[in-house]
Amino acid sequence: MQQHARFQQVTLITPTAAMSPSVHGGRAKCLQRLIRLDMPVPVTVALSFDAVHGIAAGRMPDMAQILDPFGVAPLLSVRPSSQDPDWGGPGAILNIGMSDARHAAMSKVIGEGPATSLYLRFIQSYAVHVARLDPDAFDLPDVPHADALKAALAAYEFETDEPFPQDVSVQLTEVLRSMARAWSGTTARLLREAKGAPVDAGLGLVVQAMALGVGAGECGSGVIQFVDAVTGLPQVTGRYLSQSQGRDALTADEGAIYLTRDPRGQSLEQQCPEAFASLITFGGLVRRRLREEMQLEFTLDGGQLSILDAVRVQRSSRASVRIAVALAEDEVIPCEEAVMRVAPAALSELLHRQVDPTAVRDRIVTGIAASPGAATGRIVFSANDAQASAARGEHCILVRRETTPEDIRGMHAAEGVLTVRGGITSHAAVIGRGLGLPCVVGASDLVIDRKKKLIIAPGGRTFKEGEVITVDGTSGDVLAGEPAMLEAALDTAFRTLLDWSDSFRDIGIRANADTPADAQTARNFDAEGIGLCRTEHMFFEGDRIGMMREMIFADSAAERRTVLERLMPMQRGDFTELFEIMRGKPVCIRLFDPPLHEFLPSDKAGLRELAEGLALPLSDVTARVEAMAEYNPMLGLRGVRLGITVPEIYEMQARAIFQAAVWAGRSGDPVVPEIMIPLVSAMREVELVKARVDAVAATVRSETGVDFAYRLGVMVETPRAALRAADIAEHSAFLSFGTNDLTQMTYGLSRDDAGRFMSAYVKQGVYPEDPFHTLDIEGVGELLKIGAERGRIGRPDVTLSICGEHGGSRTAIEFCRTQGFDYVSCSPFRVPVARLSAAQLAILERRRIQEVV
Ligand code: PEP
Ligand code: MG
Repeated sequence: MQQHARFQQVTLITPTAAMSPSVHGGRAKCLQRLIRLDMPVPVTVALSFDAVHGIAAGRMPDMAQILDPFGVAPLLSVRPSSQDPDWGGPGAILNIGMSDARHAAMSKVIGEGPATSLYLRFIQSYAVHVARLDPDAFDLPDVPHADALKAALAAYEFETDEPFPQDVSVQLTEVLRSMARAWSGTTARLLREAKGAPVDAGLGLVVQAMALGVGAGECGSGVIQFVDAVTGLPQVTGRYLSQSQGRDALTADEGAIYLTRDPRGQSLEQQCPEAFASLITFGGLVRRRLREEMQLEFTLDGGQLSILDAVRVQRSSRASVRIAVALAEDEVIPCEEAVMRVAPAALSELLHRQVDPTAVRDRIVTGIAASPGAATGRIVFSANDAQASAARGEHCILVRRETTPEDIRGMHAAEGVLTVRGGITSHAAVIGRGLGLPCVVGASDLVIDRKKKLIIAPGGRTFKEGEVITVDGTSGDVLAGEPAMLEAALDTAFRTLLDWSDSFRDIGIRANADTPADAQTARNFDAEGIGLCRTEHMFFEGDRIGMMREMIFADSAAERRTVLERLMPMQRGDFTELFEIMRGKPVCIRLFDPPLHEFLPSDKAGLRELAEGLALPLSDVTARVEAMAEYNPMLGLRGVRLGITVPEIYEMQARAIFQAAVWAGRSGDPVVPEIMIPLVSAMREVELVKARVDAVAATVRSETGVDFAYRLGVMVETPRAALRAADIAEHSAFLSFGTNDLTQMTYGLSRDDAGRFMSAYVKQGVYPEDPFHTLDIEGVGELLKIGAERGRIGRPDVTLSICGEHGGSRTAIEFCRTQGFDYVSCSPFRVPVARLSAAQLAILERRRIQEVV
């Protein structure tokens, strides 16, 4: 830590003193700003990071230099001043300078009781925080009196074998030393590092003349702020307490009064109208000049107002958005600054109900936080029960070992989902995020006893079917009962902030949307189109699953076509709706991807039902289903491999897409559908599918008499597709990287099983993060880079994007921006967060460039 020569170690804060937050800390700099605004700030001296560093190492600065500005026999306070106030620091110590002599003198001026109270409070904080004595021996009496004072002084002497220090210089030296050392302690270091402080973050200290708040006339202290900390709306809040110091007014059991007139009781506005009016004026001034909503700490001394401190108002996520937007709308800060001030995670909180941070949490188990938001409901163990529960109007939480596509309707019916297995890209997680459904996956410490219909938590606690639990998909916690919740808030400020974000953003944001409801959410959040529509989910709805099964059991291509002809109008209906909702925006439809046996029942009852439906013997059906089983289905007959070997499915889908485009195009602008081929690994796969899709397009054009355009592209999900991107791109208008499968295949790591050991891997530093959660720039990123470069060689204007679950994350957006990708696509509920992150990254880059120029 090298201090700039221009700065002194000990600085009397004046309007012109050389000071900087990176040398003296945020509080010291803020006090200088208040002084520059002519506010009545008591005399204050700032100690730089260097000075405090030296004190911790045993090098005391010149105490006379610190004390001189305060005159004879001063009473002082010391407060921490870290560079970022959020990094914390040791607590303030007040009334330094109290001694027997000072007590006697003050007793004459302000009365013995108040003087004793000040002395006792100083002895207590000095004993506990400086001499590190047992706090029990220094409890404050309800009424300060001479005996209590005697006892406190005796206790101090007994514990330390020394009389209580009487010299202000000695007292201050020890206070400074203890605060400097506290900053270097392990706990303080870990706490601030968790808030983003660098390892060598410095601490400054401010020594300030006490404005007593105790004595004759109207004396007291208070805290005032001008916005509500939860809503962020303008509102004067705070308290004032006569004959008090520091922040006493906020914690007082009784006696504290309101600031503005209030029907519930006395107010400062009534009692001290002039001081109140000054506070309101100062509030406005601070907001404009410090460009932030600040909380002011003040005292009245014989009616005389002093401003001791100003700190950034602590705020909820909702308030952080409202405050930033209001400051920009009032032209206090530019819109760009407002965009930079809101943490993307805060937006994510606003989109979902959350467990109230102040609520008591009765934690049952913790898993992977897979889809944010919190939901409460009764435990159910099957999709059918979830639907039945919803039909009764009862909220439920679907608890499964893991979910499969068959559970989708149950997931729709549930308020939240909890699975024992699975990771961040498991079925439950992906669908949960798509639906905006709170979801905790991979809670591997939980046991489901299906027979007894209960779950067993670590430690043996059990919860039966029907009992109420809460899934907190933001933290990964599963809680017993129903804690207090905060509702989602999509207000005007939220929308304004995102509109501003869009004006800075330089990469597209689309949504992964499978259903009209998803598409509507995407549209509401201003996604620029659909980047991935997973069509297979559409086949689980209503009686479609039955037709799918018939199709799977068909004996010939002709028979298959006949069944598919019945499914086609339903698909066409789905696509028409999507095109209509997304009118004017691109919609990218992925052709059928999963292995066919996912549509077949896995249990006896289901097989029997299927046999009945198909009018086949149960043994035939069972044998057929068994024959279709694959050792490794995710690497088996799925994606384009199905498209090549069972071409009728893709042909039906292409027909449905084109007819829907023609239909939707009739009532507005022409629709240009995008068709995406999944799991490609060879150029010939694309050639074959393209030839068939082109042929279907030609047929639909001649049948309808409508000419239409479409774009055919490839989903790059296998390492080989990335490596062969040049020749693949020759046949593809776009390449969209499916980073879920690409991560799975790059690591050779099953996305459905990785959750079992991922936390051990991350804990031991094998992987820095779960690569299904945070894009692995080193490995998977290398493949994306190669794929993008080679894709551009094959087709210079190829559109590039990613559509895996990473799409909405800051890391992925940052990577895609630097690689010149056109857009990222993510779950609809992540679109707002992605819009803000993308804007912040663009602003940061522009600022970096401006710094260099
Ligand atoms: C992917 O693999 O990244 C992808 C988006 O497809 P899915 O998750 O459906 O396999
Ligand atoms: Mg995939």
